[in-house]
Formats: sequence, structure tokens, C-alpha cells
Amino acid sequence: MIFLEEYSQLTCRDCGRIQESCCFKTTVPLSLEDVKQIESLGYRAEDFAEVLEYGEDELDGLENWERESLVEFCGKCYTLVFKHANDDNCIFLKKGRGCVLGEHRALACKIYPFWRRDSEIMFLDDFEESMKDVCMIRRNGAKVDEALKCICETRENIKEYHDRIIKAFTSEKLEYASVVKKILESKNPSPA
Ligand code: SF4
Ligand code: SF4
Repeated sequence: MIFLEEYSQLTCRDCGRIQESCCFKTTVPLSLEDVKQIESLGYRAEDFAEVLEYGEDELDGLENWERESLVEFCGKCYTLVFKHANDDNCIFLKKGRGCVLGEHRALACKIYPFWRRDSEIMFLDDFEESMKDVCMIRRNGAKVDEALKCICETRENIKEYHDRIIKAFTSEKLEYASVVKKILESKNPSPA
């Protein structure tokens, strides 16, 4: 399988190196696969990941698999996301270097700014609102097909990759829940 591996080296990494990119203020969900991959580089989950709590109203807007991927504790729903540095960039975005994770960045980072809803490929909603004028993949207001062509990708590959994301976020739930719990507890240690 090809895709979504090399283009960021050429486009997204350059983008993050030279301008304010989508790695600024973006909430990037992390699967267990992402956490394990990044930990294999020597980072600790509690140093790069934090827990995001979903409010009741936010749950309504999620797809079924997204709801299924959340971890429930005491009636609340959580997922893991990347921490941000003090300048609001993702903790792995380094000034002048771009994303230091490179090909090890999260699954959601690799598919960005594309997404699939039902069988349609589209730009993600938050991208449409905030990044459409600066994204180097979508230069000059390119539509989905032009943007895909710019990175030598196809709608079929994006669909396949999206399936991989769903699988990563909905499998091994018990292990994922234990990581979420560990990070929740590191933030709010139980009284001795
Ligand atoms: S998706 Fe667009 S805005 Fe984000 S890093 Fe890549 S080129 Fe830049
Ligand atoms: S892991 Fe890399 S590509 Fe993903 S948000 Fe962080 S800096 Fe950006």
C-alpha cells in the first residue's frame, strides 16, 4: 500500500516549517496504535497525550464508530489527543523543523485535510473553516480532486485509509481504556 506516507515529507512538513499550519490549535485524536508507535520512539504517553472529555451535546455530532471509540468512566466519555505546547502548536511541531514525528505521526495527521463521510471524500469541516486559504495541498482554492492530485493520492486510497483509522480506533478497547485511565490519574492523582 502506498499513500499518505511520503507526501507530508514534501508538503506538510515544509508547510509546518515555514508557516502557521494545521498543527496549530488542532485537536488530533490518538488511537492506541498511535500511542504505541510514538512510545516506541522513546516518548511517554503522559508527556505527549492528554485526555479530552466529550460533553453530551458534542456526542450528538459524532458518527457511530466515533462514539464507539470513546472510553467511558463514571458516566463521562473520553478520548486521547495530542498535547499542545505553550504557543498552541502540537507538542511535536518544532520551529523551523516542522513535525518531528515525520512518518510516525498520528493516523489522523496523515489523512488530514481529507475525510470520508458515508462513501464521499471531502475536506474536514474544521479545515474548511480555518485552513483553506493557507494549506499548501489546497493552494488556490483547489477542490478535493485537484488537492488529491497535488499529493498523488486517490479517493480510493483515502477510503481505504479511513477504514484503517476506524479499525484502529475501535479495536483493543480495554488496553486503550487503561491508557486513558493512566493519563486521567496522572492529571488527577488519587489521594494517598
Ligand atoms: S494539511 Fe495543509 S495546512 Fe496542514 S500541514 Fe499539510 S499542507 Fe499544511
Ligand atoms: S503529530 Fe505532527 S503532523 Fe500531527 S499535529 Fe502534531 S506536529 Fe502536526
